[in-house]
Amino acid sequence: MDKRISYKDINELPEIALSTGSTRVLKTGSWKNLKPVIEDKAAPCSKACPISTKIPQYFFHIIEKNLDRAADILLEKNPFPAITGRVCPAFCQIGCNRKRFDERISIRELERFVGDYILNRGYKVKEIPSDTGKKILVIGSGPAGMAASYFLRRKGHSVLIYERESLPGGVLRYGIPSYRLPKDILDREFDMLYKMGIKIETNKALGKDFSIDELRDKFDAIFIAIGAWVEKKMKIEGEDLMLSGLHFLKEVNEGKDISKFIGKKVACIGAGNVAMDVVRTLKRIKANPEILYRRTEAEMPALEEEREKAKSDGIPFHLLVLPIKAQKKNDKIVLTLQKMQLGEPDSSGRRRPIPIDGAVYEEEYDFVIKAIGEEADRSALPSEYLGDDGWPFADKKTGAMKVKGVFAGGDFIQGPSTVVEAESWAQKAAESIDRFLKGEDINVREVPPKTVSFMLINTEYFDKEKAVHPVELSVEERIQTFDEEVKTLQEEMAIKEAKRCFSCGYCNSCGNCFVYCPDMSILWMDNRPSVDYDFCKGCGICARECPRGIIQMV
Ligand SMILES: Cc1cc2nc3c(=O)[nH]c(=O)nc-3n(C[C@H](O)[C@H](O)[C@H](O)COP(=O)(O)OP(=O)(O)OC[C@H]3O[C@@H](n4cnc5c(N)ncnc54)[C@H](O)[C@@H]3O)c2cc1C
Ligand code: SF4
Ligand code: SF4
Ligand code: SF4
Repeated sequence: MDKRISYKDINELPEIALSTGSTRVLKTGSWKNLKPVIEDKAAPCSKACPISTKIPQYFFHIIEKNLDRAADILLEKNPFPAITGRVCPAFCQIGCNRKRFDERISIRELERFVGDYILNRGYKVKEIPSDTGKKILVIGSGPAGMAASYFLRRKGHSVLIYERESLPGGVLRYGIPSYRLPKDILDREFDMLYKMGIKIETNKALGKDFSIDELRDKFDAIFIAIGAWVEKKMKIEGEDLMLSGLHFLKEVNEGKDISKFIGKKVACIGAGNVAMDVVRTLKRIKANPEILYRRTEAEMPALEEEREKAKSDGIPFHLLVLPIKAQKKNDKIVLTLQKMQLGEPDSSGRRRPIPIDGAVYEEEYDFVIKAIGEEADRSALPSEYLGDDGWPFADKKTGAMKVKGVFAGGDFIQGPSTVVEAESWAQKAAESIDRFLKGEDINVREVPPKTVSFMLINTEYFDKEKAVHPVELSVEERIQTFDEEVKTLQEEMAIKEAKRCFSCGYCNSCGNCFVYCPDMSILWMDNRPSVDYDFCKGCGICARECPRGIIQMV
């Protein structure tokens, strides 16, 4: 009911103009040409992450000190944040909007912080749906196989893993050295999967102990993720005198005796991540490793971070040299090295190395280790599982192989890549398998939301501040030990870093739109804003003042 105020005397009138009735009767909302729409969008970091981690969403809970909630959000997309928080190349950080303001957010370090919190707390996955009665076989227990098992179990299916080695983990256990990824981290993260009811049988190799076709009838679906473990060939004379880089790392990780390398001059051929791990491991056991690479540093396939660490560990890089022959002389290996120069870019986009006429010399080594790349074992499967090019084939979007009910992913399909990309194959294959088991179209996927670009961030609300970086061992300390070289952030530092995040596209209920709307047309319920379109005149102030690009005028 409209209550009018009446005045008896002129002296009672207020000093400023004042409406004597309610303005609610006048629905000024009809005056607008544009209307604000409040809608969460994707942050570019999340978009760049192969598994679409909901980054600003869990950062919000780090700031609130609600780490259980941060853990739940992280675990929706990633079963192994303590692993990826240590070894992921952090594609997310490349896409971070804050990079254009001062310095990108240390996203990987925050992921590791929450990952370690989960491990220390002994996390239990929220209720698993009741058993669907469907049985899935996963072959291979690297990050692709383990992550697929996790996502499938979370959908209520029962999962059995067959693994060739005696312990699970693939490259995580047998490739990546412990100074980058301590093995108890993966054991503890895998423990969570066993607690969910996932079963594993080790020492069971596809192609040796069983064939794919004999098991197809026994399971409702199969996911193959056996990685890429076949060392590529250089096809030069004396190649059999060389050791395999991956094999060397496996021996170190298995705790085998590698004392024969101490004090020895070791050539490592190649400049990828395996090569960097080989030389950095050799340095720690007091050998004298050197990198031999046929291109220059700019073309090296290793992650920049790893390359820089190898250099600061004091490992010499001999660039633009190609071994063309290896011979045994007494107890040494003599490499014949061809000097190279760079020509036009090849199909990989990198400049092609071309031999310089007559520029050949010899160099003597105690050991030569080859780390020029690995590929899938195509003999593990019958020909109907291979693509037209003769390599194992699975659809990029769904992970489906050409044979019904069989899916595959990770390095086995993509070739050597990264842990998070292996997890991404697992994510999409688990989604497809679930749809397949329910008789649904496996090609259906959610349409991703729009991404918030830097232009949509109102940087006036943020102060410039340098990123928080983790504590690391000094070079002198780290080359003496296999102890972990990078430390986890302390809580206080993690909160400080999470607070630097713009929270691109994710409403963190800052209240700016509510405060600045001149027409009081932003409603505030359950700590979230919405628009009262009956009164919003479409001035756009809320959109201008939202720091995170959430409000759009349409
Ligand atoms: C030395 C090294 C360092 C790396 N460093 C990094 C890094 O820092 N960051 C990063 O993101 N990525 C890194 N990578 C790449 C990353 O580890 C791989 O991309 C990832 O492990 C691939 O996962 P996957 O599950 O597909 O394969 P894998 O990890 O190879 O796992 C395959 C599993 O299948 C098993 N298997 C193989 N054959 C059979 C068979 N016939 N039957 C049954 N089981 C079988 C294997 O034993 C293994 O357990 C590195 C790779 C190497 C080699
Ligand atoms: S998994 Fe890797 S790319 Fe994804 S958010 Fe974590 S660090 Fe970034
Ligand atoms: S500022 Fe935060 S939300 Fe925005 S891209 Fe960077 S990490 Fe992601
Ligand atoms: S101004 Fe703040 S409260 Fe309003 S939509 Fe943007 S982030 Fe959310």
